[in-house]
Amino acid sequence: MEFSSKLLENAVYEISQLPGIGKRTALRLALHLLKQPEEQTSHLTSALEKLRSQIKFCSNCHNISDVALCEICANPKRDASTICVVEDIRDVMAIENTGQFRGMYHVLGGKISPMECVGPQDLTIGSLVGKVKQGGVTELIFALSSTMEGDTTNFYIFKQLEGTAVKTSTIARGIAVGDELEYADEITLGRSILNRIPFENSMKA
Ligand SMILES: [Zn+2]
Repeated sequence: MEFSSKLLENAVYEISQLPGIGKRTALRLALHLLKQPEEQTSHLTSALEKLRSQIKFCSNCHNISDVALCEICANPKRDASTICVVEDIRDVMAIENTGQFRGMYHVLGGKISPMECVGPQDLTIGSLVGKVKQGGVTELIFALSSTMEGDTTNFYIFKQLEGTAVKTSTIARGIAVGDELEYADEITLGRSILNRIPFENSMKA
């Protein structure tokens, strides 16, 4: 792509670094911004800058939050004895939308994936295991996507908790194998939490 402007070329390059955005789309977006009032671009860049510099992670569940303890963890009506283990904030949002879960979450920040060089130490597994060993948690519900990485992660955590009294369960698979949680419809996802099954049973299947 030949550019008559270095400024435009740089902007297109940066925009095209985002996932799913090729050079052509990046060019279209950059030209769109040039046609809009200047403050629209200022709002965009300021929102992105603030997102990066001010975002916090909840000290208890590691979910993205604007404050030290997220709204869910700070809510005394939530049941702290049941923890739903998820990959990221999208899963928390999907499960919250079902309105079927009154426990707490633990956001791992990803799944164990040797292919992508993600090991247990790159996730918040240590903090989860610590939380359970401190006591007060009676059940962990694994709600990771049903992929090889999701299964590996569940099993790793399950092994780490051997010898503790915590009950482990996994969401029932109304969700097809390989599906990502965020794409499941609310009714299916809500039902799969209510109909969760003991984790040991899920391994035999
Ligand atoms: Zn939290």
